[in-house]
Amino acid sequence: MIGYICKYTPVEIIQAFDIKPNKLEPAVLNFDNADTLMHSTMCSYTKAVIEQCINEKIDKIVLVNCCDSIRRLYDILKNDKTIQYVYLIDLPRKSNTCSQKLFYNEIVKFIKSLETLTNKNFNIEKLKEIINKNNLYTESQNIKNDSLDIAFIGARCKQDLINLIQKYNVNIKYNTTCTQNHINYTFNNNNILEEYCKQLLTQYPCMRMIETQNRHDMILQDKQLDGIIYHTIKFCDYYGYDFADIKSKCELPILKIETDYTLNSEGQLKTRIEAFIESIKNKKTTNSSLNKFKSTNINLQKNNRCITAGIDVGSTSANVVIINQNKETLSSSIVKTGAKSIEGANKALDEALTKANIIINDLDYIVSTGYGRISVPFANEEITEITCHGRGAHYINPDVRTIIDIGGQDSKSIKLDDKGNVKEFAMNDKCAAGTGRFLDMMAKTLEIDLSQMGKVSLKWKNDIVISSMCTVFAESEVVSLIAKNTEKSDIIHGLCNSIASKTITLVNRIGKEQQYMMTGGVAKNIGVVKCLENKLKSSIIIPQEPQIVGALGAALIALDKISSSK
Ligand code: ADP
Repeated sequence: MIGYICKYTPVEIIQAFDIKPNKLEPAVLNFDNADTLMHSTMCSYTKAVIEQCINEKIDKIVLVNCCDSIRRLYDILKNDKTIQYVYLIDLPRKSNTCSQKLFYNEIVKFIKSLETLTNKNFNIEKLKEIINKNNLYTESQNIKNDSLDIAFIGARCKQDLINLIQKYNVNIKYNTTCTQNHINYTFNNNNILEEYCKQLLTQYPCMRMIETQNRHDMILQDKQLDGIIYHTIKFCDYYGYDFADIKSKCELPILKIETDYTLNSEGQLKTRIEAFIESIKNKKTTNSSLNKFKSTNINLQKNNRCITAGIDVGSTSANVVIINQNKETLSSSIVKTGAKSIEGANKALDEALTKANIIINDLDYIVSTGYGRISVPFANEEITEITCHGRGAHYINPDVRTIIDIGGQDSKSIKLDDKGNVKEFAMNDKCAAGTGRFLDMMAKTLEIDLSQMGKVSLKWKNDIVISSMCTVFAESEVVSLIAKNTEKSDIIHGLCNSIASKTITLVNRIGKEQQYMMTGGVAKNIGVVKCLENKLKSSIIIPQEPQIVGALGAALIALDKISSSK
């Protein structure tokens, strides 16, 4: 078996030597080995390949000099004594006649190296046989009529991510990521190898090729497409201009996601993908006047009285809102999520039911949201917090166009249209910088009650800059400021400003638009609100209870279900 990484790898030639080509799609837990062998800011895919080679004892690998990271990977693997065979194919950046000749010569060199490795002679008839067999293979996809058609473009990604997207009844109509190779080889002249090399080089170009001006034409011309998912890899060099190119040419909704080939960020990734699919589905169904959402298990009461609940299970708090058919709030609750989200969810629901003086069977529909939404057994349906915050905020104030939601673990900026539909959103990555968790840790370090932080910060006199965004480094900055007897109010103001700076980058990503509303627990911190208002040069609407906006949105969506099923 030979590991390979790139769609320009001549896999059929490897097969012609009776060797199985193994496309490397690592999924790792950490980069412990890679971080000692290469710089930590190298492309995360490259680092994950190092981990996979070590963990799975891969001893043969063929690389293509796609980018600097892959060249550094080659240097490292070449020096690893446990790896028997490492080959680097020099891929031209152009595909003109001269480049085709160059590439042909490269492939001939590669064949010679495989002959040495295997002690076998290359058999061109065998190559022809393999190509014909591969040509017959067409991907069979189970496309449903009501599915969404999307294009998946950008950098390589794990098959798991494709599977995750397809789980939501989505048809990936185009996959033009840098590993996807769908060449149907045809041979017209007698030199099969020459033809093979030419077609391999002139396939649908990847981002590092020079002739990429029309790379996205096929996608841009398809008027039936519902959206685009653009995948990038952490620290990848090429995606920046390629993403900017498609974004400037296209009016379709685009979701940009970044992965780092570790298994740790799947929850956030799921939320991003689900929220994107919800928003384009919502747009499509609104346009075709179908039911807004699917409806299951609806238990309608005969006397036209109807009660729904929304439950938002976040990293810090589990919140419930119960409403009636007139969208009036009957009760709400906010409890700590605790170590087990199911227990937090049960507790929050019990409290809200008691306050409303009803029992669970009186609820006609329950929608769960928040990062723990999947573990709420009594919910009829789950909807992402992005859609729910949008619904809740629009209900509270229909003029809101930008929501800033900062919770315990996530911070988000959500753009709404005039009907309250989510137009675009941006989320923080998995680090705690810019979230409530950052403030919780700093409150402990400063020995101050969290609820007092905002008020104290307003007394600041000296504008202190906390330069580290990382929670751990910021904490040591705070410790040294304490050692210098710096006023608590100045330190806290510095911390609030640092949260605001991080948040503004999310707002800028989707574009500033008034009115602003802040939701989530951090909206209770007046220090952060003031710093944000200062940076936005605009006031921010703070709901009476910002922590329950997501749950309110979920309860309203539950009510929509019932109305649409009548
Ligand atoms: P999640 O949705 O992740 O559970 P929340 O929306 O409940 O998060 O927000 C939790 C964060 O809100 C906490 O980390 C804390 O920083 C902040 N917070 C909660 N209550 C208060 C308060 N009374 N004053 C200031 N900040 C608060």
